[in-house]
Amino acid sequence: MITIALSKGRIFEETLPLLKAAGIEVLEDPEKSRKLILTTNQPDVRVLVVRATDVPTYVQYGGADMGITGKDTLLEHGSQGLYQPLDLQIAKCRISVAVRSDVDYANMVKKGSRLTVATKYVAISREFFATKGVHVDLIKLYGSMELAPLVGMADAIVDLVSTGNTLKANHLVEVEHIMDISSRLVVNQAALKLKQAPIRRIMDAFESALG
Ligand code: AMP
Repeated sequence: MITIALSKGRIFEETLPLLKAAGIEVLEDPEKSRKLILTTNQPDVRVLVVRATDVPTYVQYGGADMGITGKDTLLEHGSQGLYQPLDLQIAKCRISVAVRSDVDYANMVKKGSRLTVATKYVAISREFFATKGVHVDLIKLYGSMELAPLVGMADAIVDLVSTGNTLKANHLVEVEHIMDISSRLVVNQAALKLKQAPIRRIMDAFESALG
C-alpha cells in the first residue's frame, strides 16, 4: 500500500493531473466527502486528506509514505527526516511583507524603530527581518492576517500572495518579496527503502509530467 498525504484546495486540485500521469485517479472528491482516507483506481494507493501544515508530520512519522506540501510549510515547520526529491511547480505564489497603503514603509524600517509584524510564518519572518537588521515583535496568527494592520494591531504582515487581489481588497500593498513558493514532493526515507519500486514509479511519472 502506498499512502499519499495531500491537503484540500489548491494543492489537491493541482496534484490531480500529476497523479493521473502516474495512472492514479482519486475516486472521491474531498470537498464533497467527509472521508479522510480516499480510495483511488489503484487498489494499493490511497490518499489522506490532512491540513497543509500537517503533511510533513504525517510523512515524517510514516503515517503517509509521501506527501505534497508548500515550501513555506517545510521552512516554517521543518523538514526533518524528509526526502525532498521534486519541486512540483504547483500552487505557486510568493511570501511577502505587506503594509497599509497609506504608510511609508521605507521610513518605518529606516527609523530603526521596532516593527510589529503579524503572521502565520513566525520563523520565516524572524529570519527575514534579522537579516535586514530590523527589530520585530511578531504576533502569531492562524489566518486573515490582512486584518491586523487595518485594526492597528500590527505595522505589517508576512503572508502568501498569489494574484495580490486579497491585499488590494484590504488596502494593503506588497513592500518586500521574501521568496517564491511552490509545492514539493516529500517522501518518508524509510518508505523509500522499503517500497522503492512503487514510490520510484510515482516519482518518475511526476517528473515526466513536469516536462
Ligand atoms: P491572492 O488574493 O491571489 O493574492 O491570494 C492571497 C490569499 O490566498 C492569501 O490569504 C494567501 O494566504 C492565500 N494563498 C495564496 N497563494 C496560496 C498558496 N499557494 N497556498 C495557500 N494559500 C495561498
